[in-house]
Amino acid sequence: MTGPSPSLGGSRILLRKLREIMEAGADAQQRLDRLVVMIAATMVADVCSIYLKRGRVYELFATEGLKADAVHRTKLKEGEGLVGLVAETARPLNIADAPRHERFSYRPETGEDPYQSFLGVPIVRSERAFGVLVVQNKVARTYGEDEVEALQTIAMVLAEMVASGAYGDVAALGEIDARPMKPERLAGRAFSDGLAIGVAVLHEPHAPLGRIVADDPAGEEARLRQALERIRSDIAELVNGDPAAISGVSREVLETFLMLASDASWENRIVSGVRAGLSADAAVERIRAEHRAKAAATRDPHMRARFHDLEDLDNRLLRALAGGEHSGRQAIAGDAILIAREIGPAELFDYGARQLRGVALEEGAPTAHAAIVARALGIAMVGRLPNLTSRVEAGDAVILDGESGEVRLRPESDVVKAYEQRQALRSERAAEFRRLRDQPAITKDGARVTLLLNAGLALDAVHLEEAGAEGIGLFRTEFQFMVSETLPKLEAQTELYRNVLQAAGDKPVTFRTLDLGGDKVLPYMASEREDNPALGWRAIRIGLDRPALLRYQLRALVEAAEGRLLRVMFPLVTTAPEFDAAKALVLREVEWAKKRGAQGPANLEVGAMIEAPALAFAIDALKGKANFLSIGTNDLMQYFFAADRGNPKVADRYDILSPPALRLLKRIREDARAADLPVSICGEAAGRPLEAIAFVALGYERLSMPASGVGPVKRMLASLDRRLAEEAVMSMLDSARASVRGEILAFAQRSGVSL
Ligand code: PEP
Ligand code: MG
Repeated sequence: MTGPSPSLGGSRILLRKLREIMEAGADAQQRLDRLVVMIAATMVADVCSIYLKRGRVYELFATEGLKADAVHRTKLKEGEGLVGLVAETARPLNIADAPRHERFSYRPETGEDPYQSFLGVPIVRSERAFGVLVVQNKVARTYGEDEVEALQTIAMVLAEMVASGAYGDVAALGEIDARPMKPERLAGRAFSDGLAIGVAVLHEPHAPLGRIVADDPAGEEARLRQALERIRSDIAELVNGDPAAISGVSREVLETFLMLASDASWENRIVSGVRAGLSADAAVERIRAEHRAKAAATRDPHMRARFHDLEDLDNRLLRALAGGEHSGRQAIAGDAILIAREIGPAELFDYGARQLRGVALEEGAPTAHAAIVARALGIAMVGRLPNLTSRVEAGDAVILDGESGEVRLRPESDVVKAYEQRQALRSERAAEFRRLRDQPAITKDGARVTLLLNAGLALDAVHLEEAGAEGIGLFRTEFQFMVSETLPKLEAQTELYRNVLQAAGDKPVTFRTLDLGGDKVLPYMASEREDNPALGWRAIRIGLDRPALLRYQLRALVEAAEGRLLRVMFPLVTTAPEFDAAKALVLREVEWAKKRGAQGPANLEVGAMIEAPALAFAIDALKGKANFLSIGTNDLMQYFFAADRGNPKVADRYDILSPPALRLLKRIREDARAADLPVSICGEAAGRPLEAIAFVALGYERLSMPASGVGPVKRMLASLDRRLAEEAVMSMLDSARASVRGEILAFAQRSGVSL
């Protein structure tokens, strides 16, 4: 570049001039024309051009230096030329010898032959490049870092101005793709059932436009430093806080975080943005966009995690700048669908979770804490939606289908209508389930089936009444550990169990002891990496090898159940001796309570979960020892079919409604009867009406399921003739098919079963 490079002061002048131009009364084209003249002059560039995306091409909208009649004539296809490259990568391109670059695309009408050096930066918003800002010079040279930053800053301001329409309708020049307008259909994974129609609320919103350019950089820098101080001292407080409250791993995480927060280069880059004339919020926002883009571009999971950490830090800083702990959270209208890359359970609560209609996540996992909380609160949630956050703007209409995992953005009116009809149908069914609520589950031919609830949080206990279940058949105690930042203390555990028992009243509750390991890892507990965690050190295996944690939990259970029935069951028992050892631990706690003069439970029942196929063939060995059994079909099927339940590639490949799986379940039922052991089914499958037909046909009389399954299963049972179902299902057991789902469905339709 000839002449001096723009200093920070220079870009401040640039920003001021930019604002003057945008605010002056002129039409959009005139504004852009003045803009390129001004940028070229201030940056001492021979050329300055603005390309904006119209349809599928990048069109030259304004230029200083190139031939004027190329404006609106020069169009580059997506990915074409250096401009296409900048838009595609959403990164600056800084080259000294542009004509020799392999992507250079020569356009004679522009007369750009003599320009050697090229600096192009994307005009991005929400990670969507909808234009490119270019400066060019005759001499061959690489532009300095300051210059790149200055041009990026201008591009950012330009992006906000064009996209928001706040400074005259630049977008009216053409169908510029500044705001995502098109309807889109995204396929994700259903994490929590429900059908929500509402309006997008961004979990991490953009810095507000009005505050992009600051009039008083010194004051702005002071504001930034204050906010930095605040987040650092907040994090330091966490690190140095109650040592009992954080254990090894979480301290490490926090310390890394503190280190990042104290990183000078992170701070310097933000400060330089502010000195260049940006507001503190906009300066952070710019860095945040870069961290996000880098996280999206890297394949290395460690690098990605690091960029996510940095982005979290940027978010914290943005919130601190906005003032107040949760000031980043907007007031939520009643029709909000929250859009986030990822969300923690506590953050979900921050929103006053019951006000949210739905949550859509770019990442997330069905077993993640937030998904568990969403299910407990009855909020529809869909996750694993590719590039979600860059495709939605605040205020967009959104339909979120927590049944199929589909999300519609800015849907057409007929799509909205179709979903509204489905919603109406769902509420009709919900009303029908409510009517069934107080009736027992009973088949047409009079067979009584006990329907129980799967639960994991104190919140779930309210669903007992709502759903019309007869008790809690599976209380997943590890959820308390998973939603907590630190290891729950004895008192906290006792309190939870006591609350659940109280909420359940006369209805029985079966507490499943900690089922950790596998996919359920606690951030605050050190764990060794295993090659096959699902087949590794998990559940009761940890409990028996390191009994302190389990004993602690059993103590809390014994204490909470004073004077009441206590039902405890152990996960993933594989051999009878494992069960004996675990049971001995319970008895020891009961004894200990007695010795202390505590009342202890009125009755004790101890059971084993059948999740390991080996135990399914050793039921006789539990006779007289266990009080009951419960089949965890989620795990039993993953081990039976050797297919990871959490891996979408194989999780749905094999069907529980297949002859081998049904034969296994039939055998377990028979062996349990022979051993005088009551047996229930408590995997997710129990809550699906078609599966429930098969289970009842095989003789199961106790099914435990998510709250959403109780109504549908009860309704199905009322229309089912159990004897006919038994005949039909038994006749399918010799089929050579991989699945008899179709046959069971045909049976249901033939015999008028409501599904
Ligand atoms: C199961 O495995 O079926 C079960 C009920 O336990 P979880 O889903 O908690 O592993
Ligand atoms: Mg299990």
